[in-house]
Amino acid sequence: MNKNTQLGKSDLQVNPIGLGTNAVGGHNIYPNLDEEAGKDVVRTALNHGMNFLDTAFIYGPERSEELVGEVMKEYKREGVVLATKGAHQFKGEDVVFNNDPTFLKQSVEDSLQRLRTYYIDLFYIHFPDDDTPKDEAVGALKELKDEGKIRSIGVSNFSLDQLKEANKDGFVDVVQGEYNLFKRDAEKDILPYTAENNISFVPYFPFASGLLAGKYDENTTFDDFRSKNSLFQGEELKKNLAKVDQLRPIAEKKGVDVPHIVLAWYLNQPAIDAVIPGAKRDRQVVDNLKTLEVDFSSDEVIQIDRIFS
Ligand code: NAP
Repeated sequence: MNKNTQLGKSDLQVNPIGLGTNAVGGHNIYPNLDEEAGKDVVRTALNHGMNFLDTAFIYGPERSEELVGEVMKEYKREGVVLATKGAHQFKGEDVVFNNDPTFLKQSVEDSLQRLRTYYIDLFYIHFPDDDTPKDEAVGALKELKDEGKIRSIGVSNFSLDQLKEANKDGFVDVVQGEYNLFKRDAEKDILPYTAENNISFVPYFPFASGLLAGKYDENTTFDDFRSKNSLFQGEELKKNLAKVDQLRPIAEKKGVDVPHIVLAWYLNQPAIDAVIPGAKRDRQVVDNLKTLEVDFSSDEVIQIDRIFS
């Protein structure tokens, strides 16, 4: 597998194994996060040749971008491909999505400050709102791209119709959406559209929040959002764990572990150039790089597909 790859039609070159940083300062997602440990996870990634970091305004909120920005100061800016996202707007206690061009432009300015940088490599509209025409929202980002404040344009959590509207002028470079071996809806519409339009698809929750990393059993308990996620409950958890177990002999034969088989399977798809697994520990970051050693035969690709279809 190639070490560096281009993200769709953008001019971004990334290591296919990136790092999702919602556990770096994402205090509103995971309880009891240690910020120094989070910064070390980012350093470990960059020290081991990963260069693609994924953060967002809402992780923290703000704190993930700030911590990533602090670490970035220790590295050469051009060696990092930095992706962030915006669209959440706080209105008192409520949070709404806003894709209005003025709001998005201000969001980019605010992210630049928190990340302590002059440009963002990839800025995503994090979630669609109900009102803004999506081509107008993307048009605002195109203006920022022309000004050099962002290098490429992404959208996240968009339906196919919203994506088509967003990409009316062909300006969308990357789509980020939920996709993993347990949640394969994107195969019906978004993945074929992105492949046909040379848009890169970045799957989020690639490990189904850890379930596909192969280390849980039916007695594992969770004190975060996973305690309510249906994939982790009772009989469904047992069935899901049995599927993950079927990956073990495939991994063993290749001298790797389950997480590497899972990530490599995604990278085998035409629209998927890179993945952004999250990590809370340094060793997970280094471990995920073993994915680059995996080569599949077409039979193995089909075998994995069948286990989870
Ligand atoms: P994920 O990648 O599916 O799972 C991450 C979890 O997998 C880690 O917290 C860790 O679990 C476990 N893990 C990672 N590497 C491992 C390894 N080598 N061995 C064993 N376990 C390993 O979930 P995610 O981090 O929530 O999602 C990935 C990224 O996608 C996020 O960080 C974020 O940047 C992005 N995201 C975007 C959106 C969006 O709306 N666009 C939504 C969600 C996430 P433990 O906690 O058990 O250690």
